Amino acid sequence: MIWNEFIECMDRERLTRLQNERLSVMVQRLYYNVPFYRRLFQERGIEPGDIRSVDQLKNLPFTIKQDLRDNYPFDLFAVPKSEVVRVHASSGTTGKPTVVGYTRRDIEIWSEVVARTLTAAGAGKSDVLHIAYGYGLFTGGLGIHYGAEKIGATVIPISGGNTQRQLQLMEDFGSTIIACTPSYALFLAEAIADAGISTASLKLKAGVFGAEPWTEEMRREIELKLRIKALDIYGLSEVIGPGVASECMDQCGLHVFEDHFIPEIIDPETLEVLPNGTVGELVFTCITKEALPLLRYRTRDLTALNYEKCPCGRTIVRMQKCLGRSDDMLIIRGVNVFPSQIESVLLEMSETKPHYLLIVDRVNNLDVLEVWVEVEGQFFSDEIKKMEGLKNKIQHNIDSALGISANVKLVEPKTIERSEGKAKRVIDKRKLR
Ligand SMILES: [Zn+2]
Repeated sequence: MIWNEFIECMDRERLTRLQNERLSVMVQRLYYNVPFYRRLFQERGIEPGDIRSVDQLKNLPFTIKQDLRDNYPFDLFAVPKSEVVRVHASSGTTGKPTVVGYTRRDIEIWSEVVARTLTAAGAGKSDVLHIAYGYGLFTGGLGIHYGAEKIGATVIPISGGNTQRQLQLMEDFGSTIIACTPSYALFLAEAIADAGISTASLKLKAGVFGAEPWTEEMRREIELKLRIKALDIYGLSEVIGPGVASECMDQCGLHVFEDHFIPEIIDPETLEVLPNGTVGELVFTCITKEALPLLRYRTRDLTALNYEKCPCGRTIVRMQKCLGRSDDMLIIRGVNVFPSQIESVLLEMSETKPHYLLIVDRVNNLDVLEVWVEVEGQFFSDEIKKMEGLKNKIQHNIDSALGISANVKLVEPKTIERSEGKAKRVIDKRKLR
């Protein structure tokens, strides 16, 4: 099941030629249409005709999220506003939101890459696609929507929230594929169990989950509880939205749609490009987008690339499941800690639930990590000794996996606030001072 076999299985030489042509045209467009990039090129003495191949990408400047904020709202657009048919924006928790725009052709490209994503997850025209990503300024809902319509699936644009209604429609409409965040998938699984609905009465067979990093253990948990195949999808609004990369049924890395977005892996400290297979920060260059083509956009996501052909037959490069974000990384007493590592520890234990909260504080100049963990109902006990034993076991497991000591606090099921969007896993009190 490959949506665009011509592209997705293209031989490397031919694909590189296509990328070279597109990159060269894109650089010229950026030079002539976006003053921000023209200035950067001029500072580096780069003429628009100089760039002819992807090998030269490493000489080009990076773009970071702050550049979008500095050029708020439309100054990075490479087309007149009359050509823009859609605008999305990220929620600006700090400062101004990040604004992205699309021409009619950009929307077509977006639908195409999402169609590839959904087809890779086994979706076809006879499927019922339950889209529980938020609709609106967030790219998740509408992004998946257009691709789902393109493949001819029956779309349920239910958006996020209102879980009881989600369950009812899922049952009544016979949803076969669900799209939402992985944490919401687990939340739904819990709600299904609480409502006494049997997964056998549902027609769900697969889910495409993204918009936040998640672990292999969380995948197993979702697959077990919802009895579906859980696939990882990757995207970010700055690049296009969902549809930048996606897993196939072999679940061995996410295929990057590199005829539109060229990936690179860099060292986030030195900014040097790293050799294939090395873990580093993922960077994307848009080579076909019209309204907002970003050059070497730093995603802050940590992953590695694999250029080997996939068992599914696709030849396009695969990126590893994201290991976290370079800016989500907590440095606790000098040790690099990703929330996903703690999650892995908890998911490996039968007594704990994958709901947790990390609270980092600094006491007497020393970093202190507190981990709140929800305990499975049948393991929650009034017996202090039993609970102490479990607490020590978790502390020991965190220590041996991460090399740091944590104070574990066991809490009853459903104590930790549930999120219907991206889960909040970390409270870093050190930053508040
Ligand atoms: Zn594959």
